[in-house]
Amino acid sequence: MSKTSNGMRQSQLFTKTRREAPADEVAKNAQLLVRAGYIHKEMAGVYDFLPLGLLVLNKIIGIIREEMNAIGGEEVFLSTLQDPAVWKKSGRWNDEVVDIWFKTQLKNNSELGLGNTHEEALTALMTEHISSYKDLPRYVYQFQNKFRNETRAKSGIMRSREFIMKDLYSFSKNSTQHLEFYEKAAVAYENIFRRVGIGDTTYRTFASGGSFSTYSHEFQTVCDAGEDIIYIDEAKRIAVNKEVYDDPDVYAATGITKENLKEAKAAEVGNIFTLGTRFSEALGLSFKDAEGKATPVFMGSYGIGPARVMGTIVELMSDDKGLVWPAAVAPFAVHLVSLGKDGDEIEKAADALYADLVQAGVEVLYDDRDLRAGEKFAESDLLGIPMRIVVGKDAAATGAFEVVDRATGTVAKKSREEILAA
Ligand code: ATP
Ligand code: MG
Repeated sequence: MSKTSNGMRQSQLFTKTRREAPADEVAKNAQLLVRAGYIHKEMAGVYDFLPLGLLVLNKIIGIIREEMNAIGGEEVFLSTLQDPAVWKKSGRWNDEVVDIWFKTQLKNNSELGLGNTHEEALTALMTEHISSYKDLPRYVYQFQNKFRNETRAKSGIMRSREFIMKDLYSFSKNSTQHLEFYEKAAVAYENIFRRVGIGDTTYRTFASGGSFSTYSHEFQTVCDAGEDIIYIDEAKRIAVNKEVYDDPDVYAATGITKENLKEAKAAEVGNIFTLGTRFSEALGLSFKDAEGKATPVFMGSYGIGPARVMGTIVELMSDDKGLVWPAAVAPFAVHLVSLGKDGDEIEKAADALYADLVQAGVEVLYDDRDLRAGEKFAESDLLGIPMRIVVGKDAAATGAFEVVDRATGTVAKKSREEILAA
């Protein structure tokens, strides 16, 4: 693929678009992403990311990575293959306890798991690196494939059976040190969802916390395709989920009133969770405090599904013509559409502008193919790149290019200089 660092000729892109939605796909996000050639469906709940889709996914991952690094995260990449011995210690190898396992076998018939989460593996690993209170706190994260035998997989890339998760685990001395980071993580999550363009519709949502804290928090984006129901206090910008809706304590804790809540469908794009000492005790992760006493490490876990975020963006922002990407996650900033061919003046003008844009560091997809204008515009709308620059007869003659905003449809005429200055 002849792709410079920031420019790509569409004639070199192997993916094709299609006019019709795939018949076997009910989720709007998957229908549009398949049509636009961003993803390929292997089978129910299993998707491949194609060049344009991978660009978007990596933009989302890049934003998450920046925010995790900003709060002190250290990135690792753990293996998918899971040792049953470690999971037996936490009691989660059992299929009755965890019902979404994919398991496999070595040639000698001994069992292995495909990781559905990484508390066990990372906690066991950290026993080699944490021994004193001076080693704490630590924040370790990764972008890693999770395998889950999900019962329902009808939400396209928002719920697949193999998916990348950003999972961060915090290791702290005690609940006080833990909570300090937990709040920072919540703010980092708000930054992430704002930066990818879903900040206005994403709510920090109180959920049940398991056995080590009263509540955990989900980040829920209001969206018809969501599988959850939440109850929102619009003024306070917080919500509660179904599990805790009837729990009077949640109202005491948050100062919200049940009567003011508005019900909505929502998608859980991320969550943060206090684990306490459940895994550190089970896997022998302890540290010596200042008095030399061995104490179990206090842990938290923090997940985000980049593909679920991507699917949610599609569900919220696409229109009847196709995808509409917020600038921060778009595969390219500009779709340069040439209506010229065979070295004519139009093509020369488009080639020149392409070179200028690439030179200026603009991420640009250049539709250099010889196709009908209508076909090109329809495809451009489907791809959803934020800004389309059209080079037709007029532009070649006058130097004024038609610039179309994908989200609003607004059209403006701009010179080369104006375009490059923007
Ligand atoms: P859900 O209730 O939707 O199944 P979960 O509670 O199982 O989510 P976690 O195990 O906490 O989710 O995973 C962390 C994040 O990973 C979720 O907030 C979501 O963004 C993402 N995620 C979870 N399951 C999937 C999936 N099957 N496909 C894509 N992303 C997922
Ligand atoms: Mg789940």
